[in-house]
Amino acid sequence: MRVRFAPSPTGELHVGGARTALYNWLLARGSGGAFVLRIEDTDRERSTRENRERILEALRWLELDWDEGPFSQAERADRHNEAIEQLLRDGHAYEDEGAVRFRVPPGETVVEDLIRGPIRFPHDAIKDFVIRRSDGSPLYNLAVAVDDLDMAISHVVRGDDHLSNTPRQLMVIRALGYEPPAYAHLPLLHGPDGKKLSKRHGATSVEELRARGYLPEAVRNYLALLGWGLDDRTTFIDTETLIEHFSLARVSRSPAVFDEKKLRWMNGHYLRKLPLDELVERLVDYLDHEAIVARDKVDREKLRRAAEAAQEKLQTLADFWPLAGFVLERREPAPELVAWLAESGARERLERARERLAALDDFSVEAIQRALRALVEELGVKGAAVFQPLRVAVTGSKVSPGIFESLAALGRDETLARIDAVLGRLAAASVR
Ligand code: GLU
Repeated sequence: MRVRFAPSPTGELHVGGARTALYNWLLARGSGGAFVLRIEDTDRERSTRENRERILEALRWLELDWDEGPFSQAERADRHNEAIEQLLRDGHAYEDEGAVRFRVPPGETVVEDLIRGPIRFPHDAIKDFVIRRSDGSPLYNLAVAVDDLDMAISHVVRGDDHLSNTPRQLMVIRALGYEPPAYAHLPLLHGPDGKKLSKRHGATSVEELRARGYLPEAVRNYLALLGWGLDDRTTFIDTETLIEHFSLARVSRSPAVFDEKKLRWMNGHYLRKLPLDELVERLVDYLDHEAIVARDKVDREKLRRAAEAAQEKLQTLADFWPLAGFVLERREPAPELVAWLAESGARERLERARERLAALDDFSVEAIQRALRALVEELGVKGAAVFQPLRVAVTGSKVSPGIFESLAALGRDETLARIDAVLGRLAAASVR
């Protein structure tokens, strides 16, 4: 199989486009064929160099590597013009006020779609269409047909928003004297409300998914399931298995629903399975890319401890910093939280907890847990009465990974220093 992904560089790579790219890539990898990347930049006004780079970067992030290209469609205008000259010579096209039109013959074109079956297009509904503007520029349907031929594409797999172009491209290919490739049109993506996927539904581009802390392997798994399934049950499918089993035969005809909530849930599963060292690497990349902490500024030892404490609670890489960044940077509790500590004996419990923690030689999760549970028992209070004041003192927040894990990640000196800083603020407040 020789397949291609042919994005127009007029914006970001949308999830629908990413799914198209993924399906083509899976077909190429599963068949030992080639995945060709062609940038359809003939629309000079809307195509930009920057968008092209963004799309390539999004594909790289998704780890969808291409074998040939990226080709620029605009740079192939000479080839497109050669084909137009041939069509003119052979009577398949004619000049009309300086433009060139394709002469649609009588009859019909049947698109033998690999997903939807045969679709008939009667020619009396298709006007002779322009293939070269009067300014000399070749048009889209001509360019795509010629490029697919020149690049020896065996299967055109694309979104079904292109279905109405297909009979035109088939006519051009046949008029040039060639057999067309096979076609498969993928069903549209909808949001959970059944409407066409749009910004209203949340993240809709690969860049946004990356910024929201999804893992590329989770995104690949999720996108693969938008319109395809291994069977009716399996949700988690690694990329190797996708490559082995993906086929157009199991692609559905009905629109698929892109639901970010489901992706989030899947991503959490992938994140929890990552070996700790790998999670640390992903976090380093993420924090650097999102300009949260620069790669060369990050304390990897602390990051590792924070990642270990937080891993069970993460659904995305983006969850990490708000939840566990306190291990790497000191976060003073806000005045409301200090006021909360001043109420109802929290301060006394914090002082008692400090004593116990200071007495520990071994500052492991288990030792901390034993010491604090013993204190809770002695005081005859609920765990939270001791743990929440501690949590607020050392993390600056009422939400963090498990308290024992959090304290162990900080280490004894830093834990005590943070408790002391808060006790100091409480003392200063009560003097006033
Ligand atoms: N350039 C088209 C698009 O971005 C794709 C055309 C095709 O796959 O044939 O929608």
